[in-house]
Amino acid sequence: MIDPFGRTVSYLRVSVTDRCDFRCVYCMAEDMTFLPKRDVLSLEELDRLCNAFIRQGVRKLRLTGGEPLVRRNIMWLIRNLGRQVERGALDELTLTTNGSQLAKYADDLVAAGVRRINVSLDTLDERKFAAITRWGRLGQVMDGIAAAKRAGLQIKINTVALKGVNDGEFDELVAWCGAEGHDLTFIEVMPMGEIGGDARLDQYLPLSQVRGRLAERWTLTESDHRTGGPARYVTVGETGGRLGFITPLTHNFCESCNRVRLTCTGTLYMCLGQEDAADLRASLRASESDEPLDAAIQAAIARKPKGHDFVIDRGHHGPAVPRHMSVTGG
Ligand code: SAM
Repeated sequence: MIDPFGRTVSYLRVSVTDRCDFRCVYCMAEDMTFLPKRDVLSLEELDRLCNAFIRQGVRKLRLTGGEPLVRRNIMWLIRNLGRQVERGALDELTLTTNGSQLAKYADDLVAAGVRRINVSLDTLDERKFAAITRWGRLGQVMDGIAAAKRAGLQIKINTVALKGVNDGEFDELVAWCGAEGHDLTFIEVMPMGEIGGDARLDQYLPLSQVRGRLAERWTLTESDHRTGGPARYVTVGETGGRLGFITPLTHNFCESCNRVRLTCTGTLYMCLGQEDAADLRASLRASESDEPLDAAIQAAIARKPKGHDFVIDRGHHGPAVPRHMSVTGG
């Protein structure tokens, strides 16, 4: 699949549910309205859609959400997709999770062929964790991460940089990840979905500043490591660990974009930061043949936009993109 700007699309992110057991303050409002169950694709339909993308050249697939591990019977889908890795049809099957269910699923994930996971963790402080996630408990996530490590999963911790919330802890996070052998990536907060008030503007912290501050304490060396995602990496001399920065606001990384995102209702977003989308559910349900679906995917890729244009400042009111991250999947 090649888009109008000559970029090969080989990476599909699938939000398998919009529901989550946390309510992170920068991600969701506390009183979120979730999709009615009837609008959500069955796991069989999601499997068929993923396979259509694999047929058309997707080599890397990430399951996300909402929280992917709270979707009932999700291991069925993960096992099926894992078989595509075994057959050589996919290079990698991975997932992004808040870690709350990892203690239960870590061994099953490894058995299904998952090798690497991203775990979102914004703080190592129990009280702050409860405040950020509203409903989460740090201990449960730390147990999950420990179980994942024991099971042999490679772990990357994703931390959203939040001014006045976790910015006093970045050194500690670098040290902890280094000691545990986890990669760490910082992410800029993106203006996606209504969360009430000017909260995001108050939380926004440019990663250029974060990197500058970290460089005072740690020896950071540019690395050409890539995982197929948007992060740019350095290595931390003191720990030997890898540290990534995802900077959708201070440095837009669209020129190398290889991704599209599918929601749990079968809507395909060709860009995280744009509203244009293709309804693949209609094509999926229109026929048992995969031809209409394949054609709809091709037509969507032909409309992939050049890039996003997120802005966070006092002159812009409301989110740049109305849908929440939990809809499109981070
Ligand atoms: N529940 C899973 C998790 O916690 O990783 C997967 C979905 S969550 C939406 C994926 C990632 O998006 C998380 O790392 C979360 O911190 C991040 N995220 C959510 N809203 C965001 C925003 N407005 N800006 C930046 N990152 C955001």
